[in-house]
Amino acid sequence: MEEMTKYLKRSIILLVLSLFFLSIHIQLAINFSVKKTAYHVVNRISRQIQERHFSRKISSTNKTGSMDNYRNKLYIVMNSPAGHASYVGNNENCTDIRDKTNCILSCPETSPKLVGRKTPYLFIPTTTKLKTALSWVKNGGRYSPYGCIPRHHVAVIIPFRDRDQHLKTFLYNIHPFLRRQQLDYGIYIIEQIGTSKFNRAMLMNIGYAESIKIHKYTCFVFHDVDLLPEDDRNSYTCTTQPRHLSAAVDKFKYRLPYKAIFGGASALSQSQLQSVNGFSNKFFGWGGEDDDMWNRLMHANFTVTRHSNKIARYTMLRHGKEKGNKHNTKRYKLLEDGYKRFKKDGLNSLTYNVVRIQINPLYTRISVDINEKEVMKVNAYFYT
Ligand code: UDP
Ligand code: MN
Repeated sequence: MEEMTKYLKRSIILLVLSLFFLSIHIQLAINFSVKKTAYHVVNRISRQIQERHFSRKISSTNKTGSMDNYRNKLYIVMNSPAGHASYVGNNENCTDIRDKTNCILSCPETSPKLVGRKTPYLFIPTTTKLKTALSWVKNGGRYSPYGCIPRHHVAVIIPFRDRDQHLKTFLYNIHPFLRRQQLDYGIYIIEQIGTSKFNRAMLMNIGYAESIKIHKYTCFVFHDVDLLPEDDRNSYTCTTQPRHLSAAVDKFKYRLPYKAIFGGASALSQSQLQSVNGFSNKFFGWGGEDDDMWNRLMHANFTVTRHSNKIARYTMLRHGKEKGNKHNTKRYKLLEDGYKRFKKDGLNSLTYNVVRIQINPLYTRISVDINEKEVMKVNAYFYT
């Protein structure tokens, strides 16, 4: 009898325990599915509200301004459900984003055309090869993606003198690279004519000043002609902070030579450039101008960003030192008291003569004359 009660007691305890665990299980399952349904309902409602709001915004903009105005001011209105692209109206009939004929998408944040790491071509292409391979480039070295509205309007500015072979190799590589990034871009070769000392930084200031007269660029990539990017994830775009692009160059064993380096290739937005008054115009000959820009950026409380070393990779074409670009022995002194000149030496004190603007099939060449004596005189009284 005692055995029987013991057995009964044990079975009852087991039954109660399993009932207890079963109920917990059921509760959890119910909880999860309720939450899931609620999440979907809330999501759907908020999407509907956003869509309605978006349609209204488009129709009201159409009433007031031209579509061009609308594009410039309002193109990123709503994130798509996928979170990548944004809907954009591309004509007056775009009143509802579900209407795929009249509404198109802005280009996605990350281009689907990227291929990642790719060894650059190092040969010098013939003119015919360049022409046939890059037949899609518009006159002046311009391109804008089809099928989506570009997010970035980028002027690529190359300080240049007598590097025609490098230029051919550069163009052959850079055009497809930029096209894959779905940018609205243009290539500007800023050529210093004559035999005066080369002034890289001033040429870059001129490139900025001249390119904004040609197109509505908002982002400026300053680029040596001998640098070939190895990975198209290295985006040539501008963000809230200035970006040093050429962080890992083969010449330096793909390592950053020093933390404050800003030479080679860099990207600055229009407002970033304006807030530091561009580059200094006073660095004639090789060296120092990029470090001075770093100092300007630090002085204005910017933080320079870089892509990772795995992405910001470049091959540098080999070359010697040109006679007209000897080491600038004054560069240390200029750097030291640079802060005194930031406000008065730069974009607001540019003096140069444009000798010729040539619209070539693969680039725009702006040839300028720089007079060293004149440039050094500008505002000289101010610093002493
Ligand atoms: N550069 C040029 N012609 C010259 C000197 C310089 O076109 O006579 C341009 C070119 O874009 C080059 C950049 O200025 O890539 C930087 O000069 P360099 O390559 O001599 O400097 P480094 O290799 O030491 O950075
Ligand atoms: Mn070089």
